[in-house]
Amino acid sequence: MTESRQYLQRASRVTPGGVHSPARGFAPVGGSPLFMQRARGSRIQDVDGRWYVDYCMAFGPLILGHRDPDVANAVYEALEAGWSYGTADPYSVELAELIVARLPHVEQVRFVNSGTEAVMSAVRLARGSTGRSLIMRFDGCYHGHADSLLVAPDAPAPYRGRADSAGIPPGVIQDTLVLPLDDEAALEDAFQRYGERLAGAIIEPLPANHGLLLQRTAFLRRLRELCTDYGALLIFDEVITGFRVAFGGMAEVLDIAPDLTTFGKVLGGGFPMGAYGGAHGVMAQVAPAGPVFQAGTHSASPVPVRAGLATLRKLADGRLYQDLDALGRHLRGALAGIRDLRVQQVGSLFWLDLSSAGRRQGAAGRRAPLEHSVVQRYRSLFQYLLRKGIYLPPSPLEVGFLSSAHTREDVAGLAELIRRWAAKAGAASQAA
Ligand SMILES: *Cc1c(COP(=O)(O)O)cnc(C)c1O
Repeated sequence: MTESRQYLQRASRVTPGGVHSPARGFAPVGGSPLFMQRARGSRIQDVDGRWYVDYCMAFGPLILGHRDPDVANAVYEALEAGWSYGTADPYSVELAELIVARLPHVEQVRFVNSGTEAVMSAVRLARGSTGRSLIMRFDGCYHGHADSLLVAPDAPAPYRGRADSAGIPPGVIQDTLVLPLDDEAALEDAFQRYGERLAGAIIEPLPANHGLLLQRTAFLRRLRELCTDYGALLIFDEVITGFRVAFGGMAEVLDIAPDLTTFGKVLGGGFPMGAYGGAHGVMAQVAPAGPVFQAGTHSASPVPVRAGLATLRKLADGRLYQDLDALGRHLRGALAGIRDLRVQQVGSLFWLDLSSAGRRQGAAGRRAPLEHSVVQRYRSLFQYLLRKGIYLPPSPLEVGFLSSAHTREDVAGLAELIRRWAAKAGAASQAA
């Protein structure tokens, strides 16, 4: 039995499902989750001593790769200086100044400990500053695990939802509307019905948690306009895209200014951290400046803050985004023409979409139900690549991540193996 399997047996006794976040389990890809023990650059090593080229990259934070030396030095310095004060400190001022200087739609920022916490706080702030209760979300976006956003479509009344997890009370569900992505007609209709009671609308401007669901800019612009017309706050959840697709995230790419933005992942340079920010007027409502309470023992903890500073300083001049985009395009180009594989790629984010191409016409920006055959094909691809020393995200709905530690050779190697797998899989399906 492998070391990973032994750890899984031990972990399953003391932890639900043996993992500390469901995406780490291997349910969609089969087999036993790998237990990793070390990593460097683009590589990660399991407890059985096997190395893999990592395209999961901790689900997004590691844009500079594992153990970037500048981030490591910042962390060593932080440790030397003491790692938690529970006071105001100079490092969080520097990080906030760097963000505010570069993101015109963020005039003030508050640091928290995760993307979920950032979203939770932004939703409370939208409600607190408008005095309204309703929140609009979009089917196919993920915003972490706050109660008010774990609401799925399916309801008797239009845009009303049902609990997407056990433990979400009906009272919470009542205050969340769920709309389809990429659909202006639904937007108009929902704002007409509910706009006056809407505190805010939250959206991933590039939905990247159910594959990569590219939105038309016209749709996002219409959402911006309707929020303005009805006095609701537009919240861009840029936890995955912030500092990832560009320094200023999708707001910069699209040139659309949200009222509030949430951050996480890349922000902490691989350490747990999140943030939310917006214009002075709205942020002035947050305690202790205003009446919307939000707090945290570990908020703006010096280690994540200094790791984040080191990371963002390397990203600030924009050059790395050009390199990452070139690498992403290279991957997409190298995978072009494979039957029943569509590669969606934006900068360093990529998604291997294995659904049959014909089914998707016209609705590429909306969530489609995951077909059993797609799960099976992804499982086959994932296990094949694992045997060849490549670690993809362990679900057909998770996007892959490139980092500045990945090389052209890494990416060419990945593409070559996917081609070999597709040739074999094609031959097998013809034989069957
Ligand atoms: C990852 C993610 C979250 C949740 O962040 P956590 O740090 O996992 O709590 C929220 N929104 C988006 C868009 C994300 O990608």
